[in-house]
This record gives sequence, structure tokens and C-alpha cells, in this order.
Amino acid sequence: MKISNPTEYRESLGKLKRRIYILGEQVENATAHPMVIPSLNAIAETYNSGDEPEAFDILFADSHLTGKRISRFTHIHQSVDDLVKKVLMQRLLGRRTSTCFQRCVGMDGINALYSVTYECDQKHKTEYHKRLKDYIAWIQEENLVVDGAMTDVKGDRSLRPGDQQDPDMFVHIVDRSDEGIVVRGAKAHQTGALNSHEILVMPTVAMREEESDYAVSFAIPSDTKGVIFILGRQPSDTRRLEDSPLDMGNPLYSSQEALVVFDDVFVPNERVFMAGEFDVSGLVVERFAAFHRQSYGGCKVGVGDVLIGAAKLISEYQGTWKASHIREKIVEMIHLNETLFSCGIACSSMGKKTPAGNYEVDTLLANVCKLNVTRFPFEIARLLQDIAGGLLVTMPSEKDIRNPEIADYIEKYLKGVGDVPTLNRIKVLKFIENMTVGCGAAAYLTESMHGAGSPQAQRIMISRLAELDKKVELVKKILDIT
Ligand SMILES: Cc1cc2nc3c(=O)[nH]c(=O)nc-3n(C[C@H](O)[C@H](O)[C@H](O)COP(=O)(O)OP(=O)(O)OC[C@H]3O[C@@H](n4cnc5c(N)ncnc54)[C@H](O)[C@@H]3O)c2cc1C
Repeated sequence: MKISNPTEYRESLGKLKRRIYILGEQVENATAHPMVIPSLNAIAETYNSGDEPEAFDILFADSHLTGKRISRFTHIHQSVDDLVKKVLMQRLLGRRTSTCFQRCVGMDGINALYSVTYECDQKHKTEYHKRLKDYIAWIQEENLVVDGAMTDVKGDRSLRPGDQQDPDMFVHIVDRSDEGIVVRGAKAHQTGALNSHEILVMPTVAMREEESDYAVSFAIPSDTKGVIFILGRQPSDTRRLEDSPLDMGNPLYSSQEALVVFDDVFVPNERVFMAGEFDVSGLVVERFAAFHRQSYGGCKVGVGDVLIGAAKLISEYQGTWKASHIREKIVEMIHLNETLFSCGIACSSMGKKTPAGNYEVDTLLANVCKLNVTRFPFEIARLLQDIAGGLLVTMPSEKDIRNPEIADYIEKYLKGVGDVPTLNRIKVLKFIENMTVGCGAAAYLTESMHGAGSPQAQRIMISRLAELDKKVELVKKILDIT
């Protein structure tokens, strides 16, 4: 692996010449920008072997393409064990960072495309699977971060891609030549986009024949001509510019999302993985969504572990730990969190081999997993706020704490349990503020709701996959109804 540690990762990104806008200004070196650094730190943890005893086994895998040791984020799952280890890796990194570490979308993208390109080639005599394998072998060797870009901006939600007033509301092919294709459009909410070496584009919905120019999948380096990044805002994000790390709550780590525009971008043939095969576009959406819905049963659980720790710590600092209702609430948080983990493990354990030879998760259980994720983190956050008390949104700033004229008042009046420094109490409360209403809530709450599809998308899949008629047969058989 060429990039083998966090420092090399940061250096490799710094070399890219990209067109990036942050707070209205074009930025030359985003990796040094305070709005970006915490998210860069989070993704850099995926390059950190770490000191957890289990880390090495779950952060790395053996490539089925080259036999070499690679980052699991670039791996194609070869077994149920691989699927389970993916979830364990995500929980571990959620625990380390307490945020989204941004590298799962690319992993889920290559895994979804792996089986779909194989099936597409069988059906259409195309050569996408070999191209994709070459691409995967390359990102494994280089150890690159890939932004998995599925969500189009979509315009009027009541209209199909081909019926939009503006045809660019979904990424589509605007020109074709012997060398490749030219694409136009934009992908919204792109996790870790500014922190990625590559962008892997996939369609958002199943396309129809008349929409075949929208059935497009490809990969490009993130500094390709015509690609523009516009960093998204998060609640209280400009605290990063205030030189007050305490007020950031989670000073080291954060998530990142951006709008990525493709302004007539050329993609050479060797990086095109679908260009018009509308009848397989829906498969990519379904399989990517299933892998990504599995992901949430790991990453958000790791974050939940940190929040449960914060609940106990703040209750100790404030003298409420011995109260039975506090302990019950913490047990409830654990129950919710472990239920999510159980779903992540269940859909992995029930995974199956595809015709291409890789393993995919059980789609029904992955959708159940994600539907729970659209709810349980909100309940965990609600219980945490209950335990924390109102101070989490009424605290003075770090600058007040640093002002000698008032610092003693803050130390005296915001003290909880006698022998705990007031600053420790404030640190934990600022963290809870970040995670439940600040920047951290973007990844822990809103992403839990909408990431990998809004709740209705999972309900549709659940109703489609539940085999309801078979259940009717069960009851009929027991009751002898013909
Ligand atoms: C923090 C975060 C990170 C993300 N990261 C990524 C990423 O890395 N890569 C990526 O590709 N995507 C990413 N996403 C995008 C995510 O998949 C979408 O947010 C999700 O699919 C919902 O799309 P939307 O946000 O456009 O909302 P909408 O689709 O507008 O949904 C809003 C509401 O409208 C409903 N709705 C939508 N269309 C219809 C319709 N036709 N009829 C009836 N109801 C409708 C939905 O059910 C929902 O209730 C991320 C999202 C978030 C919030």
C-alpha cells in the first residue's frame, strides 16, 4: 500500500489541484483549512493501524485480486466473515472518532458495482467488470479514498430524471466518443468529498430506456477538469474558526459533506463502468443501498458507544449516577445501540455469494437495520440530553473561561461534584452539545435519517422483500384454510 499512514494520506491529498469553495471563497489547499481539518483527522484514522488488539485483523484484508495485504476500505468482500469484519471495523472507527470517518461510501460503491458489472457483461457483452477490477486493484495498491457519489440533486421529486425541466438534475452523458464520455450534473451531500482522491459515480434511481444517458457509472480523480467542490455547512461549524477548541465539543474530529458539480467532465473509457445499460442501473442502486444500510449498523454504533460513555461520565460529574432512573436510561441507550449492532451483524451473517464471486449482505435485514438507524440514534440523543441537563445549550464560551475577570465565577458556579474540575464537566457538556445539536449531529442524527436513503426507501424495500403472501400461506396452513 503506497499510502500507509495518516501523514502520507494528508500529503497525498495536498498534492491534488482541485477547484474547492469554502464559505464563498476558492481555496487552494483545503487540507490546511480549519473548516476541513477535523474531517480530515477523522478519515486519517482509517490509515492508523491503532493500538486496539483487534484492529489489525479488522482494518486490513487480503486482496483477492493481488493477494496483497490491503485496507479493508478497498476490499471486495470474499466471505461472510469479511462482511462481519466490515461492521466491526466501522464500530471501531466510530469509537475512535465519534463521527463519520467518510470512507464507507467508496467501499460500498466498489462492492455493489463488482457484482453488477459482472452481470451486465454477461447480459450485454460489455467489458465493465474487467475495467472495474483493474480500477480496484489500483486503488488497493495506492490505498486511495474513494467518494461514493450516488445522490443526484434531483430537482422536482415528482418528476422522473428524463422529465425534469432542467435535464442536468441527474448526472448524465452529454457526449460520447471513441475515447470516452462527457458527463454533466451534480451530486449532493457527498461525504468526505474534499478528503477523497477519487470520485465513483453511480445512478440514484433505476433508469428507463428513454433515460439511458442517465444510466451512467464511472470513476475519476477528484482533480479532474470540470469538477467543482462546494463545502456544505453544518450547525455551529464556524466555531472551528474561533480559536476555541473547547467550544467545538469534539475538537479533533468531524464529518464532511459537499456539493460536487460535474461541468462537462471527460471520462476515459477505462474508467466507465456503465454507459447506457439502463436495465442494470436499478441493481446498482439496490446493492449499494444494501451495503450502505449495513454500514450504519457499525459506524453509528461506535459513535453510540462514545455517547453512552458521555452519559455515564456526565452523570458522575453531576452527582446523578446513583439515581435509578439515570441508570435505567443508560441501559435503554445500550439496548438501542446494541440492537443496531445486532442488525448490522445479522444482515452480514446472512450474506450470500453473488455470481461474480463476492459476498453481499441480506437485503431485507440491511433495510431493517437502516430503518432502525433512522430512529434509535434520535432516542439515544434524547436520553443523553435528558441526563445532561439544560446547561449543554446555555454554557459560556471558552473565551469567557479564559477571561480572568469572570473565570472564577464560572469555575465556582458551574461546578458539579466537588472534586471534579469544572472544566471537565464543561468539556463533556460541550461534547454532548456538539453531538446532539451541533456539528456532530449532522453525521449522528441527520445522516442517520437520510444517509443511504430516507426512511421511506427502506420501507419500500422491506415491503417488497418480506414475502407477505408466503406468510399468509403459513397461517392458512395452520388453520387448514384452502
Ligand atoms: C450527512 C449526509 C451524508 C450523505 N452522504 C452521502 C454520500 O456520501 N453519497 C451519496 O451519494 N449520498 C449521500 N447522502 C445522501 C442521502 O442518500 C440522501 O440524503 C437521501 O437519499 C435522501 O435524499 P435527499 O436528501 O435528496 O432528500 P429527498 O429525496 O428530497 O427526501 C426528502 C423527503 O421527501 C421524500 N421524497 C423524496 N422523493 C419523493 C417522491 N418522489 N415522492 C414522495 N416522497 C418523496 C423522502 O421520502 C423524504 O421523506 C448523504 C446525506 C446526508 C444527510
